[in-house]
Formats: sequence, C-alpha cells, structure tokens
Amino acid sequence: MKITDVRCYHLSYPLQEAFANSRTWVHHRTAHVVEIHTDSGHIGWGEGMARLPQEATKTHLLGRDPFDSRRIWLDLAEHGWGNIAAISAVDIALWDLRGKALELPIYQLLGGASRHRIPAYASGLFRRERADNTAALVDEAQGYADAGFGAIKMKVGQGIGYDTTNVGAIRQAIGKDILFAVDANCGYDVGTAIAVGRRLAEHDLYWFEEPVGANDVAGNIEVRQALSSLPIAGGEQLQGLTAFRDMISQRAFDIVQPNLSIAGGFTECQRIEALAQAHGLRVLPHMWGTAIRLAATVQWHATIPDEPEGISPQPSLFEFDMTENGLRTQLACEPIKTVDGYVPVPGAPGLGIEINRQVLERYAVQ
Ligand SMILES: [Mg+2]
Repeated sequence: MKITDVRCYHLSYPLQEAFANSRTWVHHRTAHVVEIHTDSGHIGWGEGMARLPQEATKTHLLGRDPFDSRRIWLDLAEHGWGNIAAISAVDIALWDLRGKALELPIYQLLGGASRHRIPAYASGLFRRERADNTAALVDEAQGYADAGFGAIKMKVGQGIGYDTTNVGAIRQAIGKDILFAVDANCGYDVGTAIAVGRRLAEHDLYWFEEPVGANDVAGNIEVRQALSSLPIAGGEQLQGLTAFRDMISQRAFDIVQPNLSIAGGFTECQRIEALAQAHGLRVLPHMWGTAIRLAATVQWHATIPDEPEGISPQPSLFEFDMTENGLRTQLACEPIKTVDGYVPVPGAPGLGIEINRQVLERYAVQ
C-alpha cells in the first residue's frame, strides 16, 4: 500500500453560546484534519492540534507505506517538523489506514481491548454569561447525573470564591455517589492552587486537574505533596515522550492525561502509556476535539488495562466532552454517543467511523 495524496483541512465551528475555562472564552471550535489517500483505495483520517504544512506533508508522505508509521513519525520529527501536535494527525490517519487495510479496529492493532464499553465522565460545567451561574451549573450537573453518568468534571481556576461556591453547590446537588473532578486549566500559581485545593478537598473530589503550569514539574510536585488527599492530574498539553519524562518519573501527577492529537498519535502515546505504567501512575486520556479525535481516543482508551487488574479497580474514565461542537457531533456519519454513562467501542475497521464530507466542507476555512 502506497500513499498517493494528502489533503489538509482547517475547520471552524461557530458556537451558539460562548463559554470559558480559567484561561479563555471559547467562541469557535477549531480543528486541523488530514485525509490520506492510498493506491489501494483506502482513505485514512487524522486530527492534530497544530496546522499541517500541506506541501511539506506531501513531500514526506507521497509514495510511503502506511505500515511504516513509526519510521514515518521519526522522519517527520527529524525533518524540521518539531511540532508533534501536527505529526499526531498524520500518525492517527496512518493507523486508520492500517486498520482499514487489515479490516481490523485499531484497538486490535494495539493488542486488544480491555473493555468494549468505557465508563465515561461528563466533561463540561464551564463558566457562561448567565444571570445565576451557580443555578445553571447545578442544573447542568443534575442533568448529567440524570443521564446516567457516574462521574463529572467542572472547570475551576476562576478564583477561590467562584470555585468553592460552585463546587459546594454541585456536590450538594449530586450527592455523594457521583465521582466529581475539577480542572483549573493551569489557572493558579502554586500557593493559590494549594489554598484552593484545601478548600475544595472538603467536597470529596476525585482529582484536581492542571492546578498550575502544564510544564512546571516542581510546581505540580509541590501542589501534589501539599494536597496529599487529592490526586493531581495533568499532561493534556504535553508533546512527545520526552515532555512526559520528568513529570512521570518525578511523580508530578497521580493521573497522566495524554491527548492523542497533541502528544504524538497512537505511536507515541503507547510509549507514554508504558512509561506511566512503569511508574505506577494511572493513564486516563484527554479528549477535546472532533469526531475523529473522539473515535481515535475511544480506540486507544479501550486498550489501556486497569492497573492493577482486580475485582474492583478504579474506573478507567473516558473524558466525554458535553459542550457544543458540531465538529464532534456531525462530522461522523454515525456519531459516537454515550449510553447510560458508557462509551461503546466501535468494532468497524480503523477508527470505526465514516466521515460526512458535506459537514467537512461546510466548516472548512482557509
Ligand atoms: Mg483539562
């Protein structure tokens, strides 16, 4: 099988209602997508967090065999493609092609599924421009509980008053049995993260995500040690195995959250997973993107074993983005949806989805 064509797309979906995490207001959902054609007629799809240079991509990919995906990854990284978030898109598309050529889902190429439905957490609860933010957040959280989710995640990092008021109100509304994580998106310095974390820990939180800078090894360690009863999660912004090395080996996190479209695709994320497991850390992939990244993350997450395996392991929770994004809900002909709080794992070849080209063209921009 040889690569015959490469097409790059930049997609933008305008939101009906803007929302914010601790760092920014989101008005559009954007994505960088690659489509790779082969002489066998198979087409592979991938998504990366950074824009692909179309002509350079063609130069390096035309005539190559998708089964040389690790070799291609290394060649792209060596030839000036320092941006692993762009290489990620190519890698995901090559694994999609390999699966389609062999008529196997990617989870089988990765060594087999540990689970065929993944317990999900509802990832939402952003800040919005509303008259009563607390009431709106409580309503949203209650909706997730009513839909069968056993876990939810809320955006914090918005100041100690906002965080404590809203986390307390939501915990009271959902009761004790639902796992409740919070995510500060690197919105705090170390001292503030510790002060806020101590207050929030009273509400029985499952983890505190990105309390401080994404690359701050010492800062994350300090927060983790100070908040000994509250697990620290992070890693969604890190690119490549080396970026994870010190974070994992020095145990800056309890839970490692690589993103397939940022960290380097299946090829690199398998290595990051192995490094984390060797250090006794849980791996719960981060997911924030289109139907392509959702499908890819489902394939990988299905294969990650419980560590240790037992009769009642910690749940391997899938991050299911509940916010508005037509690129996630419309780009696949049959979108992946949760059922009673679980994500079913598609068994079709490759990523297990078909792309709706009308939707792709509708949201393509220059
Ligand atoms: Mg996050």
